[in-house]
Amino acid sequence: MKQDVIELDGAIGGGQVLRSALSLSMVTGQAFRMKQIRARRSRPGLLRQHLTAVAAAAEVCGAQVSGAHMGSQALSFEPGEIRAGDFQFAIGTAGSCTLVLQTLLPALIQAPQASRVRISGGTHNPLAPPTDFLSRSWLPLLRRMGADVELDLVRHGFVPAGGGEVEVRVRPSSLTRLDLCDRGEAISRQAVALTAGLAATVAQRELSQVAKRLNWPAETMQQVMLDPARGPGNVLLLEYAFEHVTEVFSAFGQVSLRAEKVADAAINQAADWLRSDAAVAEHLADQLLLPMALAGGGSFTTPRMTDHLRSNMEVIQLFLPARFDCREEGGDRLRIEILQTE
Ligand code: ATP
Repeated sequence: MKQDVIELDGAIGGGQVLRSALSLSMVTGQAFRMKQIRARRSRPGLLRQHLTAVAAAAEVCGAQVSGAHMGSQALSFEPGEIRAGDFQFAIGTAGSCTLVLQTLLPALIQAPQASRVRISGGTHNPLAPPTDFLSRSWLPLLRRMGADVELDLVRHGFVPAGGGEVEVRVRPSSLTRLDLCDRGEAISRQAVALTAGLAATVAQRELSQVAKRLNWPAETMQQVMLDPARGPGNVLLLEYAFEHVTEVFSAFGQVSLRAEKVADAAINQAADWLRSDAAVAEHLADQLLLPMALAGGGSFTTPRMTDHLRSNMEVIQLFLPARFDCREEGGDRLRIEILQTE
């Protein structure tokens, strides 16, 4: 039996708890109230990225909203009908465009007609999926599940300047089950060092460190120097394409962090995943949960349980008749299956 208004405690996680609740509220038509939003974060409550996600979600489904202001720790959201359209949202800071986009996609997939959405802000943010992660890793899996979505990176945006933009086109489609328990054979790998407004040596040193530690040949390395006006900014992306999944690991340059350390951070994440024999790494895992639950089922393997997985499961179960079967399959391999309870 569905509740009239779903009550959520935002303190179980961070911004993802809010964004997942928004996506689920839009697609199920169930209203929610959330208290203690991001209560345990150093700057609690709604920040620009979260507020833009709320405003964007409200516009797509004509929701009644209260509590949507900077720093707010309580929000109520009563969704209406999902509508397609030509939408444009500006975060106004370098807040992550990709996180706002992920909030809207489940609803836009279900909209009666095609939509186009442009979002401006940060496209390459630490602690959020870089646009390359969405286009190379997450979206290909969503397409395999049946989603009809195309994403373009219009302009790069780094922290703190922002000013980036992504554009997405979505056609009505429905999601079907995906089982992603093995990576399959290795196909290719690539390292890309992006810089904007920084010395060429930054990217060169990152790529040299990749070559040194991973022994990758020169043809797998790419240095991209963006318009300096987009900077300062630097990200190193390591892409591993396997038969059934592509993973993208990233690490960001920071003032007084040596380029070699940036490379090490991305290499270490990749090494953790490669060692594990699991199909998807930590970030892809928590971002597959919601689409799989909306598809009515699915499964994947990932190295281990994370806070994001745990809190996302809690939120999903409040809106959908879903349950999660989590089984350890040896050392670093956890199999998660999403099942329907009705
Ligand atoms: P908060 O500041 O409250 O933690 P937030 O809105 O910034 O909130 P999170 O709740 O931490 O966001 O969610 C961040 C999302 O970004 C998660 O889905 C996480 O897996 C994803 N993410 C973080 N870093 C990466 C990365 N390097 N590659 C891909 N995805 C990432």
